[in-house]
Amino acid sequence: RRPRPFCLLVFGASGDLANRKLYPAFFSLYREGAIDDWFLVGFGRRPWTDSDYRKEVEKALGGYHLTDDDHRDFLERCFYIQGDIDDLAAYQRLAESIHTDRDLVSYLAVPPEQYQPIIDNLYRSGLSRRHSCASRVVVEKPFGRSGHEAAELNDFITERYDESSVFRIDHYLGKETVQNIAVFRFGNGIFEPIWNNHYIHHVEITVAETVGVEKRAAYYEQSGALRDMVQNHLLQLLALVAMEPPTSFTSDMVRDEKVKVLRALRPLLDLDIFANTLRGQYKAGLIDGQQVPAYREEPGVDPNSQTETYAALVAHIDSWRWYGVPFILRTGKRLSRRVSEIAVHFKKPAMNLFPQAFGGANQLVFRIQPDEGLTLYLNTKIPGLTDHSRTVSMDFLYGTGFGHPSPEAYERLLLDALIGDSTLYTRRDEVEASWAFIDPIRAAWDSGSVPLHLYEAGSSGPVAAQGLAERIGDHWRRL
Ligand code: NAP
Repeated sequence: RRPRPFCLLVFGASGDLANRKLYPAFFSLYREGAIDDWFLVGFGRRPWTDSDYRKEVEKALGGYHLTDDDHRDFLERCFYIQGDIDDLAAYQRLAESIHTDRDLVSYLAVPPEQYQPIIDNLYRSGLSRRHSCASRVVVEKPFGRSGHEAAELNDFITERYDESSVFRIDHYLGKETVQNIAVFRFGNGIFEPIWNNHYIHHVEITVAETVGVEKRAAYYEQSGALRDMVQNHLLQLLALVAMEPPTSFTSDMVRDEKVKVLRALRPLLDLDIFANTLRGQYKAGLIDGQQVPAYREEPGVDPNSQTETYAALVAHIDSWRWYGVPFILRTGKRLSRRVSEIAVHFKKPAMNLFPQAFGGANQLVFRIQPDEGLTLYLNTKIPGLTDHSRTVSMDFLYGTGFGHPSPEAYERLLLDALIGDSTLYTRRDEVEASWAFIDPIRAAWDSGSVPLHLYEAGSSGPVAAQGLAERIGDHWRRL
């Protein structure tokens, strides 16, 4: 798996995403020898020279020690084009400087309102469809603010690029542990036979953060947790856990199966939304012993903001395999612990032969972060003269299992875009199907018909969230 000779063109070359994620991921690919014949071109409005840009990129690689060879073989291949996003002439200059036999991958690391002008100018300067080699575009989240906006954006892009060249990023799919869900399910013979409503009681998906809104208040106020996390990351995790086996592990086969799950999500309408969803917002509290302000006191946030920083819901998939199995989803900021995981809760044995059993039902937990790995919870007898038993865990930790760290999500995703493999990127129909599920919930939440529960920063979220889990006969895993 190696890319053809390519040029990676980064819009938003001075931004946070480019500096914190893209340049380090790209450098790491270079260090590992995964790329050889390439150029990196930054495009931005700042009046930088190539040399200024190289200094910026070098600064972003602060975690690495750069040798003289790295300077020659890496930094000397980085170039900068100054231009305004709306200035067609700048794109024409760009088109002249990129060889026609080199694949072009344009990465839009810019605010979403800049996507359309950039894509249009790439198209008008002949850079979006090229005769002799590929031209791909990588689009960051958020992908629209509703199904309607996402469809409009999709129409706009696919009038200018072939769908197969559009790479919509969901960085969760780049995580090693998320890719392992498919390997775990379809690479082992023992789990798939029980992966259904006969054996599984419910599936619980959690993405909990300890951070607050940080410097993203302007974006977050317009987004909230439902749009920021549930529509993309949580529904993608749900689709991977619930999809049918694809006939081959190729991009369209995998995405065909994921989209079937998203389309089979039972719409939550009217009273269902009231009963099956919950939203919350953090108050002031303690994180790691430090006092942190309430969401409404964060810089840039409306003091009366109704934006949710916590979202939870119960979803059902109307398919033969999953009928009757609730999927409970929750995500929030300023929670007690940072954890992303999927817990598959199995049904209890048909009959309890051991009255002294203190354990619960079996659980299989995919730990996405931190402590990436897998845990299977089993009930065992406590050694001794009684019949007492309790739950024990069998753990697999990536860190110790393989002895080397997993690559950063962006590294894998970037390499796939450079190669042209879109398996780990979301397709147009997936994005639109997830919005179709989210839109009615968003509308009900915006109308104020679902109360906003305040929760203390550093807690496990709104107390009322327990009610959601109790409705399906269980409780959330402890954060
Ligand atoms: P950022 O730090 O604000 O950077 C935005 C970049 O876009 C800067 O290089 C900025 O150039 C450029 N830009 C903004 N408006 C422009 C304009 N009118 N004309 C020309 N250039 C313009 O934002 P970011 O955090 O990197 O995010 C970029 C995109 O990635 C957003 O869509 C965001 O939602 C998405 N994203 C970011 C992260 C992350 O970790 N940062 C994670 C997921 C998704 P100047 O320096 O000249 O202003």
